[in-house]
Amino acid sequence: MALMYFILFALFSFSVAQRGCEPGRTQCPTSPPYDPVNITADSTYRYITTAGCPPYPNPHWTNPATACTSIEQKFTFPLVAKIAPTPIPVGEPYGRYDGILYLKEDPLPIMGPLGVLTSGVKVFGVGSSCGYSSKCPSEGAPTKYVDAVESEGHTVDQCGGHAAPTNDYHVHSSIGINTTEGQAKCVVPTDTPGQHSPLIGWIFDGYGLYGQYSEGGVRPTDLDSCGGHTHEINGTNVYHYHIPNSYPWSIGCFKGCPLVDNNRREFPALLAKYGCQ
Ligand SMILES: [Zn+2]
Ligand SMILES: [Zn+2]
Repeated sequence: MALMYFILFALFSFSVAQRGCEPGRTQCPTSPPYDPVNITADSTYRYITTAGCPPYPNPHWTNPATACTSIEQKFTFPLVAKIAPTPIPVGEPYGRYDGILYLKEDPLPIMGPLGVLTSGVKVFGVGSSCGYSSKCPSEGAPTKYVDAVESEGHTVDQCGGHAAPTNDYHVHSSIGINTTEGQAKCVVPTDTPGQHSPLIGWIFDGYGLYGQYSEGGVRPTDLDSCGGHTHEINGTNVYHYHIPNSYPWSIGCFKGCPLVDNNRREFPALLAKYGCQ
């Protein structure tokens, strides 16, 4: 009998290993305890260490292809942002084709991470490559990039998140977390009616990302093209972003220079092009 249990256990272990997690990655927890998120700071930088797994139950982890996200990642944010010589675009709309919003190929849309929520979940840019999107035709498309939320939106969970082909769990937008119920479920600081939304994360240039409401609990009407504005919060005048409920879904551009180590695939060329070095 003991031998039979051993064989069953061995078969089970083998099937988990067969899911093919890359070295160093393990499957995200499907129930508590979830991986811890550590937010620390020294005199110059804020650091977020996260396994990249969401701190809530997630349907994606039942899919072996997207189960292996858990790997420690450390992101760094300047406490004092360096203002970019010109705001750095994260993508620009080209126009609609077949009901989907296409993005220009220049400026190249950001498709990887541009910030992190306080929950440890990464925020990805507005772009999706046609190669990854089932809604983007292989022929006849006007550009190679589409709005990630419109083209990938059917794949997201209750918190607006999903796993990229590299298994990196992320959100693109406030979808799923733009109601107090969603915020509570998705471990995002909750809005209080009549008040400025709380801080929900940071963008890699160091500026804070807040929920959708400004002072008085109403949507801001004075945001710049990056999706931010400056006013007093807790006694200090600070520039900060508000997450919108429509395109560009997170920020419209980086007001400051994002730290290159946070997205080595996309930032080096971008920072050089926009004079942020
Ligand atoms: Zn995505
Ligand atoms: Zn504000």
